[in-house]
Amino acid sequence: MKIFDTSVLRLPLYEERHRQLARRIESWADEISPELGEIERRPPAEMGRHLTALFGRNGWYAAVGGADAAPDFRSICLIREGFAFVHDLCDFAFSIQALAATPLIRYGSAEQRATLLPDILAGRSIGCLALSEPDVGSDIASVSLRAERRGESYVLTGTKTWISNADIADFAIVLARTADQSGPLGLSLFFVRAQSSGMRVVETIEAMAPRSFGSLSFDECIVPAAQMIGKPGLGFQIAGEILEQYRMTVGAAATGFARRARSAALKWARSRRLSTGTVWDMQLTKSKLADSEAALTASALLIAQAAWEIDQQIRGYGKHSSIAKLVATEHAQRIIDDAVQIFGAAGIVKDTVPERLYRQIRSLRIYEGTSEIQRLIIASHLQHPDIG
Ligand SMILES: Cc1cc2nc3c(=O)[nH]c(=O)nc-3n(C[C@H](O)[C@H](O)[C@H](O)COP(=O)(O)OP(=O)(O)OC[C@H]3O[C@@H](n4cnc5c(N)ncnc54)[C@H](O)[C@@H]3O)c2cc1C
Repeated sequence: MKIFDTSVLRLPLYEERHRQLARRIESWADEISPELGEIERRPPAEMGRHLTALFGRNGWYAAVGGADAAPDFRSICLIREGFAFVHDLCDFAFSIQALAATPLIRYGSAEQRATLLPDILAGRSIGCLALSEPDVGSDIASVSLRAERRGESYVLTGTKTWISNADIADFAIVLARTADQSGPLGLSLFFVRAQSSGMRVVETIEAMAPRSFGSLSFDECIVPAAQMIGKPGLGFQIAGEILEQYRMTVGAAATGFARRARSAALKWARSRRLSTGTVWDMQLTKSKLADSEAALTASALLIAQAAWEIDQQIRGYGKHSSIAKLVATEHAQRIIDDAVQIFGAAGIVKDTVPERLYRQIRSLRIYEGTSEIQRLIIASHLQHPDIG
């Protein structure tokens, strides 16, 4: 299956191992597609468990780093682009596990990394990242879930919502308020096992594209102090850093969805006959597909730039991570809408490729920072050009 734009991959922003990875993803896509066709009608929770274990067994999580290995963001972006092209839930299972593993990889103690990461990276222990609350979305500095110190433990009380994988997770990475002060400095991050007493899934959320979402309730949930990740008061900084890094990967996933839509629309346009010729024969169709191609190229280049910068540890990559997410997700929304238009009525039939992509793409302009928040971040770099 052809997924990637090789003219972008051959740029010096990528290394030979990335080109090999892209080829491996394309052949994996051919292998997994028949199996996905058979199992995709199962509930998202069941799919999530199955795919996370499969990706762990096949070593895909190695790209996110490990006890002694740094992440490779160009690889993470390629995996997300390729997996999103293949199936929404493949991207979902890969990305949520990656997000849950990253705080431990980057800030976990030597003991936490040695004991927890092997099972996580092998897909035997499923994770979720719990930041949002019923009254807290964009502004995570306002998190209100409390973690009160009692002896050698913390006692967590509050609710998290919109948590991806909440209903299948074996553990949650939870952002909580450990100090009385309001704002970002009073927050800390915890590793919390799903079977901890006082923690439970209180609701599952059904969204327009079926994925595993839920709310988690913490009612006097006791967590050993040794399960804090990083130091007290560092929670906001760690969560902010992870979101800053992973934003470009959301752009990569959006590009994967959009590439799939563009390929399907092109194929349809060439085969669908009208009285005057095919849909492709009309200049207005060519114009739509040309705009899609230009937008896909722009997105791929912006993602490559941001991922190369972070892999080279270049200061200020955050601005380009936000630009990559903003541009790629906004472009993808339009590319997919145009694909539906090219299909005509056939594009809105339930469970066809364009109809599914139309539902699946929408949330990427909301999670990990809405498009409005990306614009504010980019503008802040214009205000302080020395940091970008
Ligand atoms: C598919 C999906 C998966 C998710 N997965 C997770 C997860 O795994 N873990 C987790 O913790 N959370 C998760 N979330 C929650 C997600 O992080 C929030 O939805 C997101 O941060 C936006 O918050 P909100 O929905 O509360 O919107 P709000 O913050 O209430 O924003 C509402 C509107 O106001 C705008 N707005 C807000 N602040 C500003 C501002 N300062 N300036 C201008 N406009 C502003 C926003 O752009 C938006 O248009 C997920 C959400 C979705 C949709």
